[in-house]
Amino acid sequence: MGKKPHVLALPYPAQGHVIPLMELSQCLVKLGFKVTFVNSDFNHKRVVNALSAKDDIGGQIRLVSIPDGLEDWEDRNDLVKLTEAIFRVMPGKLEELIEEINGSDDKITCVIADENLGWAMGVAEKMGIKRAAFWPASAALLASIFSIGKLVDDGILTNEGIPVKNQMIKLSETMPAMDTAHFVWTCIGDLSSQKLLFDLIGRNNKAILPAEWLVCNSIYDLEPAAFNLASEMLPIGPLLASNRLGKSIGHFWPEDSICLRWLDNQTACSVIYVAFGSFTVFDETQFQELALGLELTNRPFLWVVRPDIHTGKNDGYPEGFQERVGTRGLMVGWASQQKVLSHPSIACFLSHCGWNSTMEGVSNGVPFLCWPYFADQFLNQGYICDVWKVGLGFNRDERGIIQQGEIKNKVNQLLLDEKIKARALVLKEMAMNSVTEGGNSHKNFKNFIEWIKS
Ligand code: UDP
Repeated sequence: MGKKPHVLALPYPAQGHVIPLMELSQCLVKLGFKVTFVNSDFNHKRVVNALSAKDDIGGQIRLVSIPDGLEDWEDRNDLVKLTEAIFRVMPGKLEELIEEINGSDDKITCVIADENLGWAMGVAEKMGIKRAAFWPASAALLASIFSIGKLVDDGILTNEGIPVKNQMIKLSETMPAMDTAHFVWTCIGDLSSQKLLFDLIGRNNKAILPAEWLVCNSIYDLEPAAFNLASEMLPIGPLLASNRLGKSIGHFWPEDSICLRWLDNQTACSVIYVAFGSFTVFDETQFQELALGLELTNRPFLWVVRPDIHTGKNDGYPEGFQERVGTRGLMVGWASQQKVLSHPSIACFLSHCGWNSTMEGVSNGVPFLCWPYFADQFLNQGYICDVWKVGLGFNRDERGIIQQGEIKNKVNQLLLDEKIKARALVLKEMAMNSVTEGGNSHKNFKNFIEWIKS
């Protein structure tokens, strides 16, 4: 027997990027590959600390780390600053790491790096190693990023990426309409951050060119127009631990294992699951309004309140809230979300619409209440509410706040809507079919594996 192929996997250092690439790595290990998984030093510590004794992955995947260019105390939620630091420091460190590994008799066969780290393709090419890019978000988002040159030529964006006016545009006849205010670089920070991010994206579009494959955590049938527009992208999703009957790993926070036991004690299809991913931060007013809205629904809810989720003082809950909701509501610091969403007690998912959350909800047939904040979350809401029609959005008041009454009304409206639930179940089946024998994602993944091995 020949040697095991050895893949080096390099995620962009953010939670929504680490989890799906770790899932892809687990699939490779299951097929007999070796994987060296390279986190940033900062995230490596978090991932290792969050692993529980049961999650022994030592023998299968080697977890290593390199610096991300920021000091420990610096703000990693500032994506522009983080991306610039990475660009300064990581390419050299990656090269050193590969040289060190290749000094042994266990050489790297293929580098799979996050598409946002396009420069890693150049590093691998220079070292004569096969290389593939991994895109953890929607095909529509990457199609919009690949179209920036055309958007400038067509007079929709200035040379610096700022929309000439706010308007709805279509990248192609069949693509869903996109709001120019919601491009990934236009709904982040102030104007100068937006220009910086646009510049970084433009540079990345060039850096990614040496990639030999571009695989993506989506499904052809979910967004056929986007895949037709950017046909170099190959969908291999949904990348979910349940596909291999395993457990999702690579989390930055330890999971609170009480969730599943609590869900076991709830009525089927009764619980509102509320989670906003790894980045979102609430101001005190909105946080309290959400709490009161959940209280007002009179339904059971499971709410992920990350330790850093709000800017308020103390625990941030309205006075007497916890006593009043009692055991009807459970608040946890971090859930094992994929397991939660597949639990029969879940009725709906109140979500910030990050792409992983979107794929996880869709794959489990769960209807959505959409509460997007930034980046691609508005685009994903557009898919959920307007294209797939498996969820509802919220209206904000003149202060930009989603009020408690609006939360209660939309929960009731969603849960009474049989058509939304029926469509969600159709999408679930479609998602599952794509990753089983004969499905499109399954076929793409098989071809990808064959190429790495060849
Ligand atoms: N997640 C989790 N437990 C939680 C909240 C989130 O496991 O309590 C996972 C979720 O399943 C998803 C990821 O964290 O895989 C968040 O990625 P997403 O793209 O949805 O949002 P982001 O954090 O990038 O905004």
